[in-house]
Amino acid sequence: MACEACGSLLDVIYDWNRLRPPTSLDFFESKWSRRYDPLDFSGVWRFHELLPFAPREQVVTIGEGQTLLQESPGVGKFVGMRPGNLYLQYEGQNPSGSFKDNGMSAAFTHAHSIGAKRAACASTGNTSASLALYCSVTKLMKAVIFIGSGKISYGKLSQALDYGALTMQIAGDFDDAMARVKEVSSQLGIYLVNSVNPFRLEGQKTIMFRVLEGLRWEVPDWIVVPGGNLGNSSAFGKAFAELREIGLIDRVPRLAVINAAGANTLYELYEKRGLRWNDGRPDQSITEGYYKDLDSGEKRASTIASAIEINRPVNLDKCLRALDVCNQGVVREVTDQEILDAKAQVGAGGLGCEPASAASVAGAKLLVSQGVIGPDERVVCILTGHQLKDPTATVAYHTTDQEQFNKVLGSRGIRRAAFANRAVTVPNEIDEIIKAIQLYS
Ligand SMILES: *Cc1c(COP(=O)(O)O)cnc(C)c1O
Repeated sequence: MACEACGSLLDVIYDWNRLRPPTSLDFFESKWSRRYDPLDFSGVWRFHELLPFAPREQVVTIGEGQTLLQESPGVGKFVGMRPGNLYLQYEGQNPSGSFKDNGMSAAFTHAHSIGAKRAACASTGNTSASLALYCSVTKLMKAVIFIGSGKISYGKLSQALDYGALTMQIAGDFDDAMARVKEVSSQLGIYLVNSVNPFRLEGQKTIMFRVLEGLRWEVPDWIVVPGGNLGNSSAFGKAFAELREIGLIDRVPRLAVINAAGANTLYELYEKRGLRWNDGRPDQSITEGYYKDLDSGEKRASTIASAIEINRPVNLDKCLRALDVCNQGVVREVTDQEILDAKAQVGAGGLGCEPASAASVAGAKLLVSQGVIGPDERVVCILTGHQLKDPTATVAYHTTDQEQFNKVLGSRGIRRAAFANRAVTVPNEIDEIIKAIQLYS
């Protein structure tokens, strides 16, 4: 899925003059009233006119993208915003429990349209869960998934196994699995659905369309998103660039991409070493030098937020473009402690998310404290995956068992769970139970 001449990733480009997209964004709202049509029911294909790479008859949908934008007073307060200014876009509501379904629906549509019979991916868990689900529901293809050893949460692994995907666990981490799946796919002619696949990003653009829809088509000031392989951030930038090009919006938000401190390639390159899009010619020597440093130091990605535990993001260049499009976007890194505290606050505010998702909220809090985001600005944090994806991290954070806490989290330098909601241990006696309830409630 790379350019044969220059080696960089392909992009889906439309001739908007020929396609003639709608002249106003609220055109899309009317589709919801026709939700008996599967394409109008889908939160991705409701926006078909803005990702018109496949004819309607070829679209594969399982009802993805029924996701909500919610204003969150509790999380807003934690982040330091004035009331009414912080929104959460909850992508955990997708059929497989993460935003990946938006992109999978699009990649799957393309794969099917060219007659693919097998599709493969390397995954930290959610891409494989999504691919496995699309295969099992539609029976159009067989899934082959590559995961690193010991790096996948049980919630995600259980999905791949249940949905019947061929699951290859290789000795190595995500970056190794990614390198292998590319080789294997090209040798065996298997369709690759990682976000090197440009159609994945087309589907993920619709997350931004739904955010705008949730804000009655008003553009927010900030979009804050966790950064792993950087497919989401790249897709968001493309969405805004295209909407502006077509004339459907007249301003774009600023983009903040949040790395985990243990997997902070984008932060290092963009904020520390000054790597920029530079009109399509980013200085590759900066990136190569950094990767050489990683290799010579034998530095591996390491964070509790397994979905963003990636040191070599495949969409790096496209993400630089997105940061450029979005009014000088910013990149920050947050620690595992900050991620888990933010996650607990998201849960307490009514929406559960997995650790990687909470990086967006932790990042927004950091940016407010640094004065980069003003408390009066309108901020949308993307919650990328469902809470039940990684219950081990959640229980360990809240647990009363210090030994277990140390075992799971201590090695990562986390000493204190600021918002722990510990289970109360009581004897099996009615008086003691009543006493405990009165004491703690
Ligand atoms: C894949 C994933 C990410 C990372 O997204 P990228 O597009 O790879 O940057 C973040 N959070 C969750 C839950 C994910 O599944």
